[in-house]
Amino acid sequence: MIEFKNVTKKYDNKVMALDNISVRIDSGEFVFLVGASGAGKSTFVKMLLKEVEPTSGEVIVGNKNLKGVTKKDVPYYRRKIGMVFQDYRLIPTLNVYENVAFAMRVIDATPKEIRRRVPMVLALVGLSDRSRSFPSELSGGEQQRVSLARAIANNPTLLIADEPTGNLDPETAKDIMRLLMDINKAGTTILMATHAKDIVDSSKRRVIALEKGQIVRDEKKGRYEFNA
Ligand code: ADP
Ligand code: ADP
Repeated sequence: MIEFKNVTKKYDNKVMALDNISVRIDSGEFVFLVGASGAGKSTFVKMLLKEVEPTSGEVIVGNKNLKGVTKKDVPYYRRKIGMVFQDYRLIPTLNVYENVAFAMRVIDATPKEIRRRVPMVLALVGLSDRSRSFPSELSGGEQQRVSLARAIANNPTLLIADEPTGNLDPETAKDIMRLLMDINKAGTTILMATHAKDIVDSSKRRVIALEKGQIVRDEKKGRYEFNA
């Protein structure tokens, strides 16, 4: 599904954001990406989106070497990746239904597909009764559920969640995690960058830990910190 082969990223200011990273994530895995601020998590994620290019090395996503994805092809390539952010990033002037529908229109889904799929994903995240509400009328947890619905509307093969529980109280964060686990069970590969120690420690999933651009830990049922 995802393979980094000796990937290095040196920004113009010579910061070594990723330092000879090699790692493989299989289809269907759920992976936490952890590390202090500045460790390279965002660079790792941006590389998967082809927002930044490796200085050296290769990134392969779903049998596609990203080197071969031209600028013109990037929007098409990204259709297969769903994104969830800490700050939800919903469109404030659109209601819940339209926020999800919009994401589908962008990729030229037909009105028929949209009418079928939007109610389905809203039901999946438990928001069928809020479809006409606007983001400002929703709690943080509800807004994140809309953002999850939007992220899965186009059936992504990979879902990247960047600190998705960062603005949520612990109970609400658990609800979002349950949904992410459900989405993963249904077959979507999930990469979640996070600082939520409790969630990582209780989830018993793979943990890839970055430190100064290097993978310092990669454990099957990992913990947020390794205290040996
Ligand atoms: P994290 O997401 O773990 O906080 P980043 O990938 O954002 O880490 O950053 C890794 C390193 O690269 C940091 O030292 C950061 O300052 C540097 N960096 C990130 N983006 C840029 C950029 N656009 N230009 C220069 N340096 C950058
Ligand atoms: P149009 O496509 O012309 O906007 P629709 O009848 O599809 O007309 O939608 C009108 C509004 O009704 C939408 O903006 C949306 O808010 C709401 N809506 C439409 N279908 C549904 C649905 N299945 N569930 C919830 N809200 C819906």
